[in-house]
Amino acid sequence: MEVAEAVEKYQVFWAMNPCQQRLVTYLPEHAAEIVGHAVKHDVDSLLAQAVRFLGPSPCLDVLKKFPAHLVMAWVEYQKNWRDLVFGPAIQYIESREYVTSYCNNVAKGEDPDICRICRICLLAWLAQLEKIDSMPSFKAALKNPLLDQKHPRGEKEWCKNCPGNYCQNLPALVRIMEAGIEAAPPLSNFL
Ligand SMILES: [Zn+2]
Ligand SMILES: [Zn+2]
Repeated sequence: MEVAEAVEKYQVFWAMNPCQQRLVTYLPEHAAEIVGHAVKHDVDSLLAQAVRFLGPSPCLDVLKKFPAHLVMAWVEYQKNWRDLVFGPAIQYIESREYVTSYCNNVAKGEDPDICRICRICLLAWLAQLEKIDSMPSFKAALKNPLLDQKHPRGEKEWCKNCPGNYCQNLPALVRIMEAGIEAAPPLSNFL
């Protein structure tokens, strides 16, 4: 990272491109630092690549590095992203009937309804997801949903049709959110 800083500082143009390509290889793990570097040195292509790896709640230190013109774009981008990823997920949960004491329509090939307990668990799970700071962790959390963080081995025992750390509504919910991530326009659309 220091070499890249020096290169940009002294405007060694012949070295800038290989350097940026090298930085790209540090994605996604060092996305936050690379975003900071790209913003500082006004490297749009690098920024566009790195910003995709920030999660719904990137740490404040990253955002503090953003120059003023980018803050507005980021706010719009982030709001749009949340609306597309979390909006339909919450809508899905809220549109389920939840009149029964447990989730119904097991394996009938239709969307199941939702019980009060599963509803609370799923909404709490979404709230947990919203706190994630990196996109790889976010996607991993979708691949491996854990509804009850406090009881990872699955003691959510109130719903007889959705035992353990699972709800029949999870697969549909994950699909909806993954589609939202795909559909979300990049930061560059808001600049
Ligand atoms: Zn249930
Ligand atoms: Zn359920």
